Formats: sequence, structure tokens, C-alpha cells
Amino acid sequence: MSDESAAFLYDPARLYSPRYVHDVLDAHGIRLKKGLGQNFLFDRNAILKIVNAAGVGPDDVVLEIGPGMGHLTFALLARAKHVIAVEIDQRLLPVLKGLLGGFSNFTLVHADILEVDLAARLGEAGLMPTKVVANVPYYVTTPILTHLVESGVPFDNVTLTIQKEVAERYVAAPGTKAYGSISVVMNYWGRTRLCGTVPASCFFPRPQVDSAVIRVDLFKQPPVGLANKALFYRVIRMAFNQRRKMLRNSLHALETEGFALDRALAAAGIDEKVRAERLTMQDYARLADALITETAE
Ligand code: SAM
Repeated sequence: MSDESAAFLYDPARLYSPRYVHDVLDAHGIRLKKGLGQNFLFDRNAILKIVNAAGVGPDDVVLEIGPGMGHLTFALLARAKHVIAVEIDQRLLPVLKGLLGGFSNFTLVHADILEVDLAARLGEAGLMPTKVVANVPYYVTTPILTHLVESGVPFDNVTLTIQKEVAERYVAAPGTKAYGSISVVMNYWGRTRLCGTVPASCFFPRPQVDSAVIRVDLFKQPPVGLANKALFYRVIRMAFNQRRKMLRNSLHALETEGFALDRALAAAGIDEKVRAERLTMQDYARLADALITETAE
């Protein structure tokens, strides 16, 4: 490709249109992979909504997960001190370099984010991100959030663009239909809010569903102490696996493993007939701890 045609192809003035996505993919002979959720956000207002929701400023080092063709990255680079973008699809690297290669505050990493040891890799590069921005397929969203929270990197906040129904589950309150195990866990990780919706028409190719932007302000200190975090997660999973059942029945397997389930429910002040969706994160934390103390007695 001549310098002149590359300059035309990657002209930022053309960025915010489906035509740009089409032309650049065509020039690179790239056929998109559905499994990687490759729907690119080209709408300028929606992109600004995400950057504003994240509150990115000149002191921020931002970790972007799944930069795709670089639309959101371009906006982040204009505001942040530095952007580190981790993209799994090698075919998109020349596309990202074509558009963003001129930015000195840009680091591109080719990797599956779930395979990256974030604390080690970012520490080595001397770049500790303060914020995370990601527009990734919904089925890897929870694994990615878990990976970020458990990474040991003290991120201030994580801003995600995800399927609207999934976002509603993330922020759901106890007792509502959307309230599930992820809603409980989110309350343990941080404070989550819905920052707006993004219609399917803002993406190319156009997905079947609308998206929403959520921001999670991660807690610096856990909001509740836990004797055994793995048991807390497990109790939540078991309770919601059979969410229509009474809690005592959903957790029955714990009793067969030797846990003093009835005593723990009583000590935690939880009615054995209650259903999973009625309990708060704090209820689950009390129950997980009571399972340990009551069983040990
Ligand atoms: N951020 C771009 C945008 O807003 O247009 C692209 C979003 S597209 C929905 C999702 C991107 O995440 C794709 O580029 C895909 O290849 C990438 N991706 C999917 N799974 C990933 C993973 N595990 N690690 C890193 N990138 C991933």
C-alpha cells in the first residue's frame, strides 16, 4: 500500500462511519470472527459517552481490552497520559498500527487478556494503569472482571460496554428478576452504575442487541471481611443455580460435605425458606463465615 493510499485509508476524518470499517477490513482481507464479538463501535457520540463515563484525564494510564480497529483507542489517546491496548486477534494489529502508530503514548500488546499476568507485565513496562476501558464479548466479561479484580493491580475503575440485558444483571437490586449471582459478586467488588445505553445501530456489523455502558469503581478495601472467599463465591453460585428453590434445599450439598448448614443459617440470621434472590451480598458473606465457625464448633 502506498503512503498516499494508507493516509487516505486511515484518515481519522473517516473514522466515524461504517464505510471506514468496511474499507479497512477489505484492504486487509479480514473476515470478522463472531466468536470474538467483533462488532466495531464507530459512532462518535457513543465513543465519547464511554470516555466520559470512565472519567479519563491527562494523569491516567488506561488499559484498554479489545481495541478492535482502534475507534475507542483513538479517543482515549487524545485524553489519557498513556494507553495500553491488549488485542487477541493478530490480524487487527496492522490495522491498529495504521491508525495509531503515530501516537507516542500508545502501547499495543497482542494477547488474550485472560492469559496476561497483569501485575508482572505492566510493572515491567513501568506502566500501572489507573483505569480500564473495555468493549468485549459479554461471555468473557465476568472472567475478565474476575481477572482484573484478582490481578493485584489497584485499578480505580473499570468501564465496560456490554449487552444491555447483561449490564442490567450487573446492577440489579435484590428481589428483582435480573438479580443473580453476578449482581451479588459485583457488590463485593465495587460500586457499579449504569452510565447509558448504546443502540445496536452504532456498531458495524450491527449486532442483534443493544449495549449499555457500566462503570465499576473498585473498592480499595473489601467491604466485608471473609474467612474463605472461595466458599463465599461457591455459596452464591449454589444458591442461584437453583434460584426457584428454598435456600436450604439449594445448599443441601454442603451438609453432605460435613458443613453444619442449619446452625450456620441460624447463626447468620437467615430463614432457611428464603430464596436466593432475596439475600444481599452481606447476607451471603455472613452465611459463608457462619458455615466455617459453626462447623468448627
Ligand atoms: N473496542 C473496539 C470497539 O469498540 O469498536 C472493538 C470492540 S469488539 C466488540 C471486541 C474486541 O475484543 C475485538 O477486537 C476482539 O478481537 C477483542 N477480544 C475478544 N476477546 C478478547 C480477549 N480475550 N483478549 C483480548 N481481546 C479480546
